[in-house]
Amino acid sequence: MRLYDTLDRELKELRPLDGTTYRFYCCGPTVYGPAHIGNFRTFVLQDVFRRTLETGGMRTFHVRNITDVDDKTIRDSQAAGQSLTDFTGQWTAKFHADCEELGLQPPHVEPGAVEHIPQQIAMIATLVEKGNAYASEDGSVYFKIASYPEYGRLSRLDTRELELGRTQNERANSDEYEKDSLSDFVLWKGRKPEDGDNYWPSPWGEGRPGWHLECSAMIAEYLGSDFDLHGGGEDLMFPHHENEIAQSKCACGGHFAKHWFHATHLLVDGGKMAKSKNNFYTLDDLKAKGFTAMEVRYVLIGAHYHKQLNFTLDSLAGAREAMAKLAKGQRSLAAKVGGEVQLTSVDFGPFQEAWDSLNDNLNTPGCLGGLFTGLREAAKLEGVEAAKALAGFNRILRALGLTLPEEEPEAEVPAEIRAIAEERWAARTAKDWAKADVMRQQLTGLGWNMKDGKEGYELTPV
Ligand code: AMP
Ligand code: ZN
Repeated sequence: MRLYDTLDRELKELRPLDGTTYRFYCCGPTVYGPAHIGNFRTFVLQDVFRRTLETGGMRTFHVRNITDVDDKTIRDSQAAGQSLTDFTGQWTAKFHADCEELGLQPPHVEPGAVEHIPQQIAMIATLVEKGNAYASEDGSVYFKIASYPEYGRLSRLDTRELELGRTQNERANSDEYEKDSLSDFVLWKGRKPEDGDNYWPSPWGEGRPGWHLECSAMIAEYLGSDFDLHGGGEDLMFPHHENEIAQSKCACGGHFAKHWFHATHLLVDGGKMAKSKNNFYTLDDLKAKGFTAMEVRYVLIGAHYHKQLNFTLDSLAGAREAMAKLAKGQRSLAAKVGGEVQLTSVDFGPFQEAWDSLNDNLNTPGCLGGLFTGLREAAKLEGVEAAKALAGFNRILRALGLTLPEEEPEAEVPAEIRAIAEERWAARTAKDWAKADVMRQQLTGLGWNMKDGKEGYELTPV
């Protein structure tokens, strides 16, 4: 598989560093409310990425964290009058339930930040020791960006921004900030009254970890200093991933992630879908409108990860139609194949192009298009070739994580009706339009509509 690398800005072939297992990390959700479908765009694309590697025969090791302590979880748990653990526990459970409905494979390891406070403190201590971090008068610890000359490579900070960051000598105590207020960023936040009960002892006094540090510590624990890929939504590139790189490389040495995979945002009405903007849809919102989780998944993979996707309810209706067509194609192929066929070789047959698209920079819309063209080709195949095509189609569906709707089997067509239809089809093929018209009326009179397609016809009760 080839994939675009945000750091080196080029397409790269993916090969596991250790020669056997592709090891990767994805920044997980901040559990202070239900995830919205923008978050799920990123998680679903990461899931298709993993499934594609696995379908291609690669082993994977997928780590995705749960951000269960940060500015927002603390603020909102207190507003809700709940302990941080109860509050984040309930939203973690909701996240898992939504993931399951959306067909996401659970990561192999899903560490939570609160469970890894000792590892975080140890990493900060190393950074202080090495001269990359310093404690401030309020009991917080900051990363000194001037101590790391490569700072800014991922998000292409220009020299002006870097100069400003070095000379201003300011500090960001909040987890999120903009490029034009570039500054030393916080690794450990000294205890403040508004944190309530949420503080831990440390060599610098009571406090809690900064968000960026949490990921670095969990990565060191489960993936070490060198691993294959790191991913998240594009908003995480700065400052979050930039800060992760600085912390991890300075503390652990090594190269950190070999490849960076960023998914472009899901928009709504042309703007970023975000919890803070209150312009978001959750999975439950869309289910309440009568759509299924699989239809949502189809929409989310319907655009290339490198392009923005503007979400509309119409696109969900389109997904329903498209999936019904795919299901119909799958059923007629399955009917032709009959029962189980033992295949001696596996290839994608008419679905080779669909498979190639997925492996070419995770081109999901190209792959979906390839499924439709492949089905038209497959309709002409018989016997083992049809069986191979069906197997190829199903493998791609698994790579996309799509489950197609099951439909009621078509109405049983009586033999005499089928005979008339066949005769009419022959007349139509012979361009005997007059006869075909008369016979269509005859069929309608007998209670059957005959709909002509390119490759065949369909009979439905009137
Ligand atoms: P959060 O819960 O805010 O930490 O975000 C979880 C994941 O969702 C991160 O990888 C974000 O980059 C990603 N994300 C947030 N908003 C969007 C969006 N509108 N479209 C796509 N991904 C998003
Ligand atoms: Zn992270």
